[in-house]
Amino acid sequence: MSKAKIRLIDKDVDCKLSKNFKHSEISCHCNYDDCTFTIVVQKTLDCLQTTRAVIYANKPFTPTNVYRCQHHNADLSKSSKKSRHKKGLAADIPCPPNMPFDEFIARLENVWQRVLPYKSKSFCHCDNEIP
Ligand SMILES: [Zn+2]
Ligand SMILES: [Zn+2]
Repeated sequence: MSKAKIRLIDKDVDCKLSKNFKHSEISCHCNYDDCTFTIVVQKTLDCLQTTRAVIYANKPFTPTNVYRCQHHNADLSKSSKKSRHKKGLAADIPCPPNMPFDEFIARLENVWQRVLPYKSKSFCHCDNEIP
């Protein structure tokens, strides 16, 4: 089965998007009326599956943020105007409780093109440049 590289999914539709991730886990967390869809990038889903395998030992985890609409992204003073969350290309991944943070970064760097560590908050922003 071939899948489109990029899909738009209505925000109120919850469905399975990959083996272990469903739409509600990657949709924007805001409640704005104009936030009506999610940009779903297949490569991001593939990277989340690989992250689950190599960092979470195939156990469930939920990324903190994946897709973020323009409106919600603009609310966040620390978020870049060019944030790849707005294109569905990024995910914020929490560090597993038992994994040293340096090991966490090194493993993520084998999966994602770019990894930005936020050690004090125990997560990494991860993204890819192109879908
Ligand atoms: Zn939103
Ligand atoms: Zn991020």
